[in-house]
Amino acid sequence: MNYDQILKKIDKEIKPFANEGNVSDSIHELALINPSKFGIHLVTTEKMDYSFGDSNEKFSIQSISKVLSLSYAFQFLGENIWSRVGVEPSGNPFNSLAQLEYEKGKPRNPFINAGAIVIADILVSNLKNPKNDFLSFVRNLANCNSIDFNEKVALSEKKVGFRNAALANILKSFGNLKNGVEEVLDFYFYQCSIEMTCKELAQSCYFFANGGNTYSQNQRILTESQIKRLNALMQTCGFYDESGEFAYKVGLPGKSGIGGGIMAIHPQKYCVATWSPRLNLKGNSVMGMKALELLTTETQMSIF
Ligand code: GLU
Repeated sequence: MNYDQILKKIDKEIKPFANEGNVSDSIHELALINPSKFGIHLVTTEKMDYSFGDSNEKFSIQSISKVLSLSYAFQFLGENIWSRVGVEPSGNPFNSLAQLEYEKGKPRNPFINAGAIVIADILVSNLKNPKNDFLSFVRNLANCNSIDFNEKVALSEKKVGFRNAALANILKSFGNLKNGVEEVLDFYFYQCSIEMTCKELAQSCYFFANGGNTYSQNQRILTESQIKRLNALMQTCGFYDESGEFAYKVGLPGKSGIGGGIMAIHPQKYCVATWSPRLNLKGNSVMGMKALELLTTETQMSIF
């Protein structure tokens, strides 16, 4: 497969979409990003790297961090995790309060904010130094010590995190948060503030494409069966209230974030990360989604 040629073709074909969508303004620091950035990095399971555009520039991975926190928590609790959070698409916006109240404090899935806050709670309970240990876990995936939190982004979100505070309080009222609301939210905001380049993101998430073995030392962190389950969750719940559309157009499991990043995997073939800050109305990167649609069209490979 000539990925270099395919990425060049994609770069040309997404140009007409360069001004579509808007940069997220829900977190002040993120609204300051140059909207015209575009980067893509693809790493095959044979560890061949292909990239284009601003693929070596750091961006805020935001909700993409939820697949990493879930993977870490899955190591501690295994299947017991599902007693506290479900595995169904929510069909609602990612920060919706109503469904959580109606369903008595059990979030639909780990990728909506309520679910990710429960996962954050599990990590706070199980880690000695939650923020440091989580960062080490992430750094170890791609053996990349330059991966870090962006404190400005975390604090900027903390100032306006009223809905997440509301979700955490509802969870607490139903007994589905074991630690203090403040402590869990602090961890959650830092987790979301992690910055990576497309290359670092693709290499960190390589284990989803490689049956649970990491890019760094081919170290097994989850079993093949666990990876199958996490990939299934990404397929059905990874793209906010647009997961169906993403499956229809792209045909790969993955996860997006409001920083404009998308990570997607083709099991046993590759992990790919894109970054372009302009988002559509559902919160997914316009150019990122288009680029991935072109990728599966041009390669004639998707999971379907
Ligand atoms: N930190 C953001 C929030 O909780 C993440 C949003 C996202 O990327 O979906 O609202």
